[in-house]
Amino acid sequence: MKSIDKGYINGAFVTLHGTQVFDLVSPTDHQLLGQVTLGDETDVERAVAAAKEAFKTFRHSSVAERIQLLHNLREAVSKRLPELTEVMIQEYGGTRQFCTMSTQYSLSYFDSLIETLQNFEFERKAGHTMVQLTAVGVVGIITPWNASNGFICSKLATAIAAGCTVVAKPSEMSALQTQLLTEIFHEAGLPKGLFNVVNGLGNVVGNAITTHPDIAKISFTGSTVTGKHIARTAVDTIKRVTLELGGKSPNIILDDADFEKAIPQAVFGAYMNNGQACIAPTRLLVPASRLEEVNQLAKAAAAQVVVGNPSDENTNVGPMVSEKQYERVQSYINIGIHEGATLLAGGTGKPAGLENGNFVKATIFTNVRNDMRIAQEEIFGPVLSIIPYENEADAIAIANDTTYGLAAYVTSADEQRAIRVAAQIDAGRVCVNGFKHDPLAPFGGFKQSGIGREFGTFGLEEYLEPKSILI
Ligand code: NAD
Repeated sequence: MKSIDKGYINGAFVTLHGTQVFDLVSPTDHQLLGQVTLGDETDVERAVAAAKEAFKTFRHSSVAERIQLLHNLREAVSKRLPELTEVMIQEYGGTRQFCTMSTQYSLSYFDSLIETLQNFEFERKAGHTMVQLTAVGVVGIITPWNASNGFICSKLATAIAAGCTVVAKPSEMSALQTQLLTEIFHEAGLPKGLFNVVNGLGNVVGNAITTHPDIAKISFTGSTVTGKHIARTAVDTIKRVTLELGGKSPNIILDDADFEKAIPQAVFGAYMNNGQACIAPTRLLVPASRLEEVNQLAKAAAAQVVVGNPSDENTNVGPMVSEKQYERVQSYINIGIHEGATLLAGGTGKPAGLENGNFVKATIFTNVRNDMRIAQEEIFGPVLSIIPYENEADAIAIANDTTYGLAAYVTSADEQRAIRVAAQIDAGRVCVNGFKHDPLAPFGGFKQSGIGREFGTFGLEEYLEPKSILI
């Protein structure tokens, strides 16, 4: 059992003022994996002071120095990928397939910021005026549990590229993963105070970060409910906010698509990251005239989905991160049944033989109406809703009939047709014919899926203040 009883402040692992201890429980078998001591407001105070001091110097660092630092961090992380993957599987319950990809993606964030910096203009002209893009200040990073280290790498890399310093508060359920990542960063030789970590609860450490007058910006990834709270709280000190929030992403299968391929891909896609993915395509929109065919293909695909120990190579869906998350998903499956949707696969309860962990059956509802709660609300588990549409215009209307707008997916035999449909969907990212990742393309949400963008040039600009110098 591991005990994490220190925070990382001003370049050192230090004893915290906070004393509350939180149990780290395996989602796979409920064994106690470790304990983490949670920080408090005093710890945030120390971390912010260190970051503020470090900012005085780091804001003046050259682009070459920042690139070197990003390169050092990237190299340090790349040497420890297998360990990072193992601890993510153990603590979070992500599948080996997903965690391997997720830790690999962490490297891409350093690479993409290095590439972005190489061409980025920190000084531009507007009219007759010189515009300097200057680092915003100390950034508070608040992250969820579903790809914790990837989010920290992406946000820290962007902060470094901008010349900002950081106080990070990951989910308390990600303490083992954060500890390993922080040790790796420490060994890579970060300037003191550039990166600080305070483990803790949202309403204590998260709140202290959000209200602190010396923090200039919050970069938050998490639920829309918490994002709204943070935005409201941050406004008192007029902090800049980047909010990456929830989603209920539509996946439109157009009538000319290859259904034999597209439907199984849609089913497996909905279960990406155990269904605990903000971009998961959880609303499958199909032509009403072909619903029966879709149901058969989807049911057959669900039967192929392996729910089980996340450590096994062939597992597609591991456990939910916590018992609370398991209960939440169960309650939504019950809601779907009571709303009158047709249960095509899975259902309530745990799969046979997996009673000791937070496992959910790979579940599909069909004949779902878009006004049902299971079609409107983010479930964050392996639950797919199949929604029939009458024609292309109807599919687009249903896709947009949501308070969210993070991601969307369109499949068609005619790529140009799919692009025309993609252009009419209100979402920050629309994938055509499959699932894609591009760490240089802006990432973020329309509507209640967020404010601002991450990644590449667009992401970097969110950490910078334009200053006009009129000569
Ligand atoms: P959450 O909103 O409960 O928590 C996220 C983080 O915010 C945690 O570190 C938590 O401790 C902190 N927090 C909670 N209350 C706070 C407060 N009052 N002040 C400051 N911080 C506070 O989310 P979660 O359950 O950890 O993660 C799942 C959610 O994250 C889902 O809704 C999912 O869609 C979303 N998410 C979004 C993206 C994206 O990029 N858009 C990516 C992954 C996850």
